[in-house]
Amino acid sequence: MAGNQTFTMIKPTAFRKNYAGSIIQLITAAGFRIRAMKLTRLTAAQAGAFYAVHQGRPFFDSLVEFMSSGPIVAMVLEKENAVEDFRTFIGATNPANAAEGTVRKLYGTDLQQNAVHGSDSDENAVIEADFFFSKLERY
Ligand code: ATP
Ligand code: MG
Repeated sequence: MAGNQTFTMIKPTAFRKNYAGSIIQLITAAGFRIRAMKLTRLTAAQAGAFYAVHQGRPFFDSLVEFMSSGPIVAMVLEKENAVEDFRTFIGATNPANAAEGTVRKLYGTDLQQNAVHGSDSDENAVIEADFFFSKLERY
């Protein structure tokens, strides 16, 4: 899977605002194929485990609260150069700094509620996909 797949989540605010359909449309139109997808809600403990790399940062507790505040859509996506291409496609972490036409620019609310997650390396894409999906749930 390394190199071809990435993991994404549509974050709680974007889902609550009913942007999931529009975001998935952009993702597939950009050439990413959906290999796994589910609507689910993280507990605070699960959100903390998912973002464990940020433990100790000033925004960690708030991030955990936010990410467990409502349903998210989790997906495994496939495309050549998936991780890097998806990060470019979603735009900068802060929607205010994201390029025009990117998902975060179009659908992000603020730095924390930035519409979508995207894996930052092939290694983390594997870890994050395994966090949400069994082999039976991937196609
Ligand atoms: P993600 O990991 O969700 O794809 P990212 O890789 O662009 O985002 P990270 O630095 O990994 O950015 O931060 C993880 C998430 O934590 C951000 O997407 C955002 O929701 C939140 N976050 C990051 N920095 C801040 C901050 N200074 N204040 C509030 N929230 C923040
Ligand atoms: Mg990150």
